[in-house]
Amino acid sequence: MTEKLYWRDSHLTAFTARIVDAGEHAGKPYLVLDRTAFYPTGGGQPSDVGRLGRLRVVEAAIEDDGRILHYLDAAPSARIGDEIEGEIDPKHRCEIMQQHTGQHILSQAFFRLYGAETRGFRISDGIAEIDIALDANISEVPRAIERAEDLADEIVFEDREIRTYELTPDQAAQLPLRKESFITDCVRVVEIDDFDFSPCGGTHAKRTGEVGLIAVRGWERAKQMIRIRFVCGVRALRDYREANGIVDALSRRLTVGRDEIEASIVRLGDENKALSRRVRDLSAMAAKAEADELLAAAGETRGRRTVVRIFDDRSLDELKLLAHRLTEQTGVVALLAVRDAASARLVFARSSDLQVDMSVWMREVCTKLDGRGGGKPDFAQGGASRVDLLEAELRDITEHTK
Ligand SMILES: [Zn+2]
Repeated sequence: MTEKLYWRDSHLTAFTARIVDAGEHAGKPYLVLDRTAFYPTGGGQPSDVGRLGRLRVVEAAIEDDGRILHYLDAAPSARIGDEIEGEIDPKHRCEIMQQHTGQHILSQAFFRLYGAETRGFRISDGIAEIDIALDANISEVPRAIERAEDLADEIVFEDREIRTYELTPDQAAQLPLRKESFITDCVRVVEIDDFDFSPCGGTHAKRTGEVGLIAVRGWERAKQMIRIRFVCGVRALRDYREANGIVDALSRRLTVGRDEIEASIVRLGDENKALSRRVRDLSAMAAKAEADELLAAAGETRGRRTVVRIFDDRSLDELKLLAHRLTEQTGVVALLAVRDAASARLVFARSSDLQVDMSVWMREVCTKLDGRGGGKPDFAQGGASRVDLLEAELRDITEHTK
């Protein structure tokens, strides 16, 4: 079993230890020491990172027998029995410690205010989460979270002392511990002065002030609980900077003050809707006028007027709209396409008084253009890649198909 120096002093970042075992797991070399300040992955908290000698420790992991494996980025030259110097990355440790200690405080705040227990806890790269058994209506949740956040930050600002100690299970049973311990031979208790007793093997701040700030980022319902995402300390500062940058950029772009941003976006949305309606109406009018113009210029063969047009700058919706306007009149076949350098979209339509089958025409043309298409006898759509042959094939189908 590796001696846990991080239990005695969570601010210890440099130490010496003796190598008691070395090996490799899944291609990753590791060292086992007689004692370590590296917190291993566990309890919802990620492992410390840092250095052993000249090598980087990418992760520490605890085995069932209590040995802590330090996984390295390269094979070590040091041997069993050698003494080695270890160094924890202090910024990483501080950031994780702030989130972890913040979790104790926030969880107890929910328990104090609502009797709501914490059922799950995770720290990931950017965010920490707790699952709270909070029985509240959705409409009440934001206010309930705000009150817990306020209480938690009061505890932070009061800079209360945090003590950790190990007790026998009998001694621990006398304390109002917040959750059941999973350690059977001894219980390591983390006590936040006059606020929280919790059994925990993690790394904690010495005073609540070190947590800096506890800020809730968001929440959602998850498995009949409330999942709360939060950031503490340096992460809260980072998050504030990012949010502030977004608000500042929006404020400049919209040329309004911060408190007017939301109203400004709502107004833009309304204007956009009105403009979209106007564009739709104008497009319908334009399609009607364009259809009349195209029909006036269309030649008549086999008793039908055929309009063939290839556009370079039309949406598919505009193409369909024009096809419908053209074929509202009797005796019309409309063969329309829009193309760019690499592909073409095709729309074929005919008036209801005609018998020719547009889906047959479409399949025939698309086959020749390395594409696919189909539809109904009076309306068909397709897409093709041989843009170079598009014009010739559209002319060809009007001349050769009955
Ligand atoms: Zn803890």
